[in-house]
Amino acid sequence: MAMYVGVDIGGTKIACGLVELVDGAEPVVSLVEKVPTDAQLGGAHVLATVLEQVKAAIARAPEPPCGVGISSAGVVDPATGDITFANELMPGWGGTHLATEVTGACGLPCSVLNDVHAHALGEARWGGGRGMASVLVVAVGTGIGGAYVEDGAIMLGSHNEAGHIGHVACIAAAGVPCSCGATGHLEPVAAGPGIIDEYIRLGGDPTLPDGTPMHGAEIDRRAADGDEAARAAERRAGLALGEVLGSMCNMLDPAAVILSGSVVQCGPAWSDALREGFDGQAMPPVRTTPMVSGQLGDNAPLIGAVENLVVSAYRELR
Ligand SMILES: [Zn+2]
Repeated sequence: MAMYVGVDIGGTKIACGLVELVDGAEPVVSLVEKVPTDAQLGGAHVLATVLEQVKAAIARAPEPPCGVGISSAGVVDPATGDITFANELMPGWGGTHLATEVTGACGLPCSVLNDVHAHALGEARWGGGRGMASVLVVAVGTGIGGAYVEDGAIMLGSHNEAGHIGHVACIAAAGVPCSCGATGHLEPVAAGPGIIDEYIRLGGDPTLPDGTPMHGAEIDRRAADGDEAARAAERRAGLALGEVLGSMCNMLDPAAVILSGSVVQCGPAWSDALREGFDGQAMPPVRTTPMVSGQLGDNAPLIGAVENLVVSAYRELR
């Protein structure tokens, strides 16, 4: 049994808690506290908040933690624990020597993994992919991210950028501009904002009766009630994601696809189209690949980050 600090640094909030590893059993996450990231205040401010949160977690731990596992937005070099690039949502976060700073401040070993990769590692090892040799993990919410995990190791790629499944071409997105600057990518069609945009384009209400902007849960409710525009918007998104997942399974042949994020809660207009798109693209032997839901929720990146710390320490010992 060993206690670790787990940290998840996102664009809007920082979650920090304790992760207890018990031999062979699911890690226990406790005493998680969340604070705003205030990313617009710059990288130095975010770093100061992280150090403060880590020290507070160490102080409230029932026994001394043996290390700090961090999941962070941005491009991470897991070998050094540096943030090598962050987009305009976290100005000044790129270039932060995160692991070095944390170890300097609290004297504990620290490792850092990109947040999508950490989420995937957590789900692969202890969530929906437990006991499976390989999984493709895909999170669909305001954006789309993913990772392929084989034998407990994340496929990082040569720029630590592997898994950007939201930025692969798909037929339904032909001509649609993407946040990355390209056109024709999956994300603007299949992520939450794409469903809302399409719903409005098809004549759906841009706002709710109380004046708040339309949101995905309401579109899903309307789709269940038979609203044709809502159903069509969900169908376009599900079909596009299904086609890309089918293509990816032809390439990678994972034991399962694990789906998480708000969009995967959508009803049959979305999930039937997902299946149809998948079956249309997947070759016969991989068409039986199960698509299962993520099981760890917000704990996935904390567990994955600590798992990464333990695994990298093990690799160093060898
Ligand atoms: Zn893109």
